[in-house]
Amino acid sequence: NKQVTLKHYVSGFPKESDMSVVTSSISLKIPQGSKDTVLLKNIYLSCDPYMRGRMSKSDIPSFVAPFQPGSPLNGYGVAKVVNSTHPNYEKGDLVWGFTGWEEYSLVTSPELLIKIQHTDVPLSYYTGILGMPGMTAYAGFYEVCSPKKGEHVYVSAASGAVGQLVGQFAKLVGCYVVGSAGSKEKVDLLTSKFGFDGAFNYKEEPDLDAALKRYFPEGIDIYYENVGGKMLDAVLLNMRLRGRIAVCGMISQYNLEKPEGVHNLMQVVGKRIRMEGFLAGDYYHLYSKYLDMILPFIKEGKMKYLEDVAEGIESAPAALVGLFSGKNVGKQLVVVDGK
Ligand code: NDP
Repeated sequence: NKQVTLKHYVSGFPKESDMSVVTSSISLKIPQGSKDTVLLKNIYLSCDPYMRGRMSKSDIPSFVAPFQPGSPLNGYGVAKVVNSTHPNYEKGDLVWGFTGWEEYSLVTSPELLIKIQHTDVPLSYYTGILGMPGMTAYAGFYEVCSPKKGEHVYVSAASGAVGQLVGQFAKLVGCYVVGSAGSKEKVDLLTSKFGFDGAFNYKEEPDLDAALKRYFPEGIDIYYENVGGKMLDAVLLNMRLRGRIAVCGMISQYNLEKPEGVHNLMQVVGKRIRMEGFLAGDYYHLYSKYLDMILPFIKEGKMKYLEDVAEGIESAPAALVGLFSGKNVGKQLVVVDGK
């Protein structure tokens, strides 16, 4: 059973060498007498930015526990049930949810798994558009931002797993939407593939405030926040009265020893901005409603979705680390066994 383990807690930018790919000789059988246990064969692993927080031990409270050095990482994935003593799962079932970064996983809390009912779409989509990032985009945009037709929407990290979906949701509602990303290739994708009205490379903008003023001369109604730091500061200056900011994540801060200060927070008061953090997991009760909306769009080609696929579990450490330098173009996932 090949596994990706964390070697030690990490400070600063994570490196491939902070993880090891090892072969463990654990039994691939459900121990006798174990109730409610599922043995999974992992098919796809999802690389997600929040996993960086789990690679460090900190005194600051977090919504997830750190990984254990020497143990396999865990996270979202797509898997096939090989064996089960849980009444809801049987051999052959396909699931997405929490699993280990390894070829096979024994899952003792299968309540964190969701059975896959629709297999007429690519199975890998359950790491992204049909999984946690999809729910993140959906809940963050529709539930947290309450968008209205004609509103002006800005999305950062816009070509990634979540951002590419938020931009397309904004167009479905009839909003004007601009995204930013970190390379020419990504910026081109935003307008040519995902239908954003405008896009810019934030790395080539010495003055983010000026860049936002160029794209939003009348201001921003909704900011879908994925990066934090200097970007958030510039956005605050450009928000409109009663604007909404859905705080999905702040990836620019994840590798800093000391987070950057935000200087323009007073804008929230004068402009009556509603700024709300959220976790996708708070909204899983809406999952079937989301599927009802998104599956027809996927099948009719109304939603575009781009994946960046790394082959083999050996490539998982590099794929995960790549999120923090923007190496991924679209949703980063790892194929453990695509057969
Ligand atoms: P992406 O697919 O967007 O991958 C991460 C991207 O972030 C990179 O490709 C890179 O794109 C960008 N990035 C990396 N470092 C920086 C930096 N220093 N400054 C600006 N951009 C940077 O990831 P996801 O779509 O999965 O996640 C997007 C955000 O959503 C993250 O903040 C994540 O933590 C958050 N999230 C929150 C969830 C929730 O429940 N609240 C659930 C899932 C995700 P580029 O080349 O454009 O810089």
